[in-house]
This record gives sequence, structure tokens and C-alpha cells, in this order.
Amino acid sequence: MTRGIPRDVVIIGGGVAGLSACIYARLAGHNVILLEALPAVGGKAAGIDTAGYKLDPGPSIVILKRLYERLFLDAGRRMEDYLQFRPLNPISRVCFEGMPTVDLPSSRVECERLVSDIDPHDGRSFKSLMLQLDRVAPLIDKTIFKRPFDAAYQLLNPSMIQVARYLDVRTGYRQSVDRTFQSPMLRAFFYGFPSYGGQSYDSVAPGAFLIPYLMIQEGVYYPEGGVAAIPVALKRLAIELGVDIRLNAKVVQLELSGNQVSSVRLSDGSTISGSHFICGADRLTCQKWLGREVSAAPSFSYFTVHWGLKKRWEWLRHHTLLIPKEFENGFEMLYRKKEFPDPPIIYLNETSGTDESVAPAGCSNLFAVVTSPAEEPHLDWVGTADILKESIKQRMAGFGIDFTDQDIDFERIQTPTYFRQAHGSYRGSLYGPDESQRLFGMMPLRNYDEKLGNLFYCGGSVQPGAGLPMVLLSGKFAAGKIR
Ligand SMILES: Cc1cc2nc3c(=O)[nH]c(=O)nc-3n(C[C@H](O)[C@H](O)[C@H](O)COP(=O)(O)OP(=O)(O)OC[C@H]3O[C@@H](n4cnc5c(N)ncnc54)[C@H](O)[C@@H]3O)c2cc1C
Repeated sequence: MTRGIPRDVVIIGGGVAGLSACIYARLAGHNVILLEALPAVGGKAAGIDTAGYKLDPGPSIVILKRLYERLFLDAGRRMEDYLQFRPLNPISRVCFEGMPTVDLPSSRVECERLVSDIDPHDGRSFKSLMLQLDRVAPLIDKTIFKRPFDAAYQLLNPSMIQVARYLDVRTGYRQSVDRTFQSPMLRAFFYGFPSYGGQSYDSVAPGAFLIPYLMIQEGVYYPEGGVAAIPVALKRLAIELGVDIRLNAKVVQLELSGNQVSSVRLSDGSTISGSHFICGADRLTCQKWLGREVSAAPSFSYFTVHWGLKKRWEWLRHHTLLIPKEFENGFEMLYRKKEFPDPPIIYLNETSGTDESVAPAGCSNLFAVVTSPAEEPHLDWVGTADILKESIKQRMAGFGIDFTDQDIDFERIQTPTYFRQAHGSYRGSLYGPDESQRLFGMMPLRNYDEKLGNLFYCGGSVQPGAGLPMVLLSGKFAAGKIR
């Protein structure tokens, strides 16, 4: 890392993005204070330990291990001394109602064979899609993963032009999936990915294909102890490097002096001044602290239920996807009507099968996730939470995962309203504003404030995008802006 003039940097929010930003800012030689509103760091990736169960209430699919390794290497450390990643095989089990269950193997060759077995036409299409993405992936490393795009002209660099040549940048994502695959199971599997970039499947979002590509090509991992081990490891590194981490420090206002931020005001009335500020909380939420109006539509969110259960299902895998026959209607409701999908497409995560330490013997920590709209004027998440939970339970029972109230040690629901209240996510959206109109789904909001010269942003609402590996990079990008 190049070390410049030491600055006094204040970082708001101790999620994975904020932690990454403070590590990189410290490596550049700055004095760094991290302010986290909650009693622990980690944000959406923070773990919960209750009634003998450990659970990850947010992310569960960990990809792009090399980006975590890079961060530790940049700090002159070995990741293995902080964090152990175990590869998962299968990467996911897929249960399509009325069809035999399939396991997505962690090997690309086996995956290609599996898709050919499901449908020979789709097998050929899948192979050529993977070959096409083989060309794109190194270009993404050289561009989107390397530095943020500050201006539109940067999109005209030769690597980005090649990306646009290899990807279909004219066709809506759903149309591309339908053209590539005829099997309903494969279509249903692929339809979900644009939402992770804040986009609908009707948008031009060829970049969304990179997520399954990277899962298959580079693997899916379980961090020993759970995903929460990631922020724990980052916090340890940050403290070793000399970051001043302040918990229970809720920012309520950014105070200005001319076109600079001069200090942040906390909920207890105190202020902390600095020369540079990085906001690792949602960029749109931060606008309120600046007294600005925000009218952007939110992107997508999740409705989740956790159970600690005195019951286990041996056939469940670490990741299991439950796809109902009428999945088309579910996606139509999600993407086009911005309604809770009916029927829901349920993603289940059960880490107790992989790691015995996370649940009492014979019990399971089961996590059901349904991609949903964020807070929309026509939706009442608080009033309907129990009804939606029951609809998820009913669907799960149809797939053989049934349990009674007596089996439940604890139950915990998270709605988009919860994500707004607990994490400051703008209207409960997990992927920033609705990005459906943005280029290839790869150009989220910029990471610097256009009006205030010393305010930068990191996290899921800005470049390079949401998801753990992206927000890890976003912290590096934001720290790199400090001169
Ligand atoms: C249910 C669910 C499933 C997911 N699944 C996956 C997955 O499988 N794989 C994947 O890679 N990603 C997944 N994600 C997305 C991933 O969790 C996020 O992209 C990532 O954790 C966001 O990190 P962040 O640091 O940007 O934001 P956050 O984790 O939200 O961190 C922001 C931090 O800012 C703090 N903060 C907010 N307001 C203030 C304030 N006023 N003052 C001080 N601090 C404040 C918050 O308390 C929080 O700690 C999932 C998310 C959810 C919720």
C-alpha cells in the first residue's frame, strides 16, 4: 500500500464494508476511527448466538475466496491465521417440485455433465455460456474488481468494450435465460440472480450470469464457525493495525463546513471531527443525515425465518433450494408486481449438517430466505409477517420439511422493515436503489459524494455492488479515495 499524508479518517458503520475500509485506510497510514451504532460489528453478517444455536442471519453463500485472501495479504498476513474457509460440495441441492432432487457439484466438469443429464440441449448451452464467461471473468478482474468508475467515459476502456462484446448487452436477462435453457428447473435456478444486483429479470443484466459462474468455477465456502467469522476476523485485524473501534456510536448527522464534512454528530449529542469521512452505512440513508431528500425507488430485500429445531433432516444440504412448479408466477410477482412471491421460491441454509458446533446434538439451525420486494407503499411487512411465515412453512412441508410448534426451540423473522430499522438499509432494500435502468447491472452508485469533497461511500449500495466480496472491495475503493 502507498502511504500518503496521514489523515484523520472517520468511518461510519462496522459492516464488512466499513471494516474493510478501516483496514485499508489504516494500511495507507491514516488515523482511523470506526463508529458502529450497534454493540457489535458485522452488520448484516454479524452472527447470533441464542438458546444453544449459532446462526448467520444474513449472508450464507460465500464465494470469491481469493478476495478475502487478498485483503489479508495486503495487510502482510495469511488469511488462514484468521479465517478458515471449507469448500462445500455440493454447492447446492436443488429440489424442483415433482422432479428428482439434484445436487450441483463443486466441479465444473461434473456440473456440465449434470446439466446435460437434465436436458442435452441445455447441457450444450450451459457449456457455451461457461466458455463465454471464461472470457469475461478476467476482464471483470481488470475493471470492475480493480477500481471504481468515477465517470462514464471510463466505460470506454478497452477491457470494458470487450466485456460488452462478450456479453449480450441488448437482451433482457430473462429472455437470455429462456433462450439458453429450456428446462424449467434451470430457468428457475437462473431467474433469481439479477435481484442480487438490485435488478429485475426484465432488465439488461448479463452480469448476473457471473454469480453462478463464480460459484461453479471458484467454489462456495463455509467459514469455520459460520459467516460471522468473517467480520470477527476483520475486526481482529483492524484492531491489530490500530483502528479505534467505537461501538454503540450511532451517527445522526453529518455537520458541514463549506463543501466539506467537518464532523459527525452521534445520538448522545457528542461530535467527532475528522479530515475525511467514509460512510459504510447505506448511501441513501446517509443522505438524510446530510439533510437531503431522497426519492429513489428501492431495489430488493429478503423475508427470512430462522428456526432452532429439535429435529433434523439428513437429506437437507448446507444450501438447498426449494422450487415450486408454479415458480413463474412467483418470479412474476416479485419482479413485475413487487409483491411477495406466491408461491415463494425458498432458499434454505442449514449449517448444523456441516458444523456440529452450531446446534445442540440432533437439532438443526434452519434458515429460510425468500427474495422479496423492499418497503413499498402497498406492502405491510409487519402486519403480514406471520401469514408469510406460515406460507413458507406450508411450502416447506410440501417438500417434506415439516415440524410442529413443539419442535421449535426458537423462531426469528426478519422483514425489509427490520433491515431498515436494524441496519439503516434504505426502505429495507439490501441492494441500494432499484438499478434496473443501469448499465448491465454493473454500475451501482458512485462511491464519492458529488458535492462534498471529503465524503466517500462504501457498502452494498455503491460500486462495485452488494454481496460480501463486493462490499469488501468497496471498502478498499473508498479508502483509496483519501488523498
Ligand atoms: C438475508 C440476507 C442474505 C444474504 N445473502 C448473501 C449471501 O448469501 N452472500 C453474500 O455475499 N451476500 C449476501 N447478502 C448480502 C450481504 O449480507 C451484504 O451485501 C453485506 O453484508 C453488506 O455489508 P455492508 O457493510 O455494506 O452493510 P451492513 O452489513 O448493513 O453494515 C452497515 C453497518 O452500518 C451500521 N450503521 C447503520 N447506521 C448507522 C449509524 N447511524 N451510525 C453508525 N453505524 C450505523 C450498521 O449497524 C451496520 O453495522 C445477504 C444479506 C441478507 C440480509
